Amino acid sequence: MMDTMLHDKHGRQITDLRISVTDRCNFRCVYCRSADPENCHDESEILTWAELDRLARIFVALGIRKIRVTGGEPLVRNGVESYIARLRALGVRDVSMTTNGHLLAERCDRLVNAGLQRINISLDSLDAAKFERITRTKSFDVVMKGIEAAQNSALRPAKVNAVLVRGLNDDEVEAFAAFARERGLIMRFIEFMPLDADRHWTRSLVVPAAEIHRRIDAQWKLEQIPHERSETARKYRFADGAPGEIGLIAPVTQPFCGFCSRVRLTADGKLRTCLFSKEDHDLRDLLRGGASDEDVAFFIRSVINEKEEGHRINEPGFVPPSRTMVFIGG
Ligand code: SAM
Ligand code: SF4
Repeated sequence: MMDTMLHDKHGRQITDLRISVTDRCNFRCVYCRSADPENCHDESEILTWAELDRLARIFVALGIRKIRVTGGEPLVRNGVESYIARLRALGVRDVSMTTNGHLLAERCDRLVNAGLQRINISLDSLDAAKFERITRTKSFDVVMKGIEAAQNSALRPAKVNAVLVRGLNDDEVEAFAAFARERGLIMRFIEFMPLDADRHWTRSLVVPAAEIHRRIDAQWKLEQIPHERSETARKYRFADGAPGEIGLIAPVTQPFCGFCSRVRLTADGKLRTCLFSKEDHDLRDLLRGGASDEDVAFFIRSVINEKEEGHRINEPGFVPPSRTMVFIGG
């Protein structure tokens, strides 16, 4: 009989899993991928849907309650809707997705019908030309249509995520807040992390959450909304009662590692206990080597027990992980 709780040695209970279903993406965001071709994994190295089903079943039996499907771009892998339906059938309480929104307008109904409950859409500029420079695509209009489709669907309230990079899009803080108010959506700002393929990250490119708060609050007074301890975002509503919400995610300037309840499964079947882990742990070879469910569960439990106490971005000698964001799954 399996113990149904996952804990680490620092006393944190692990209830959330992010599953990357592909390391491929139809965008090349400057803070994530390189303009140069990268080496995606061979198809044979990527977990099959059957392997993903089996791992989800084992994780759920170990107490995982929230699963976020991500990538790469999750909507570029055929079959993702059926996978979501199977996650719901397993009894996962909260199934969500992070997407760049390019394929969302055409797929939104199918995602809702599959049982997807929540969605986060990335949007790094409200200016079409700048959006296209950041994502290296011509997709601004279609992403805006995707956001609209999500807002008109059962996935409401839509969450829109922007990664701010100093000198690139930090002039748009107030415009994004106005967008949240006009559209009645949750606008979340994520600090740029050292996970970009080109290794351009420096501390001076990070726009601190405190600055974003100060700037929005100067224009529209913000009131904090209580949040659960394990939530990554600090949440705010507009004091004047306007619709919309602001979320600030500050992994660099205000790390929330002490309350982290999350682990990640990469598309090639590696378990990562932190975005910044130095090493990852191979579940794929275990599965393909004939391990039983109990063996896999034992391995997962022992890896999670050793989850890092926190990331070391702010410590001298910090070295970014060799895997960049597109190969981890955000
Ligand atoms: N392709 C999907 C998307 O962009 O929404 C899902 C995968 S993407 C890796 C997940 C999230 O990671 C996105 O919100 C993206 O903006 C964020 N991200 C990527 N690189 C980042 C970085 N260097 N620092 C902070 N967030 C990053
Ligand atoms: Fe693709 Fe998402 Fe990375 Fe942009 S952030 S390159 S959309 S995986």
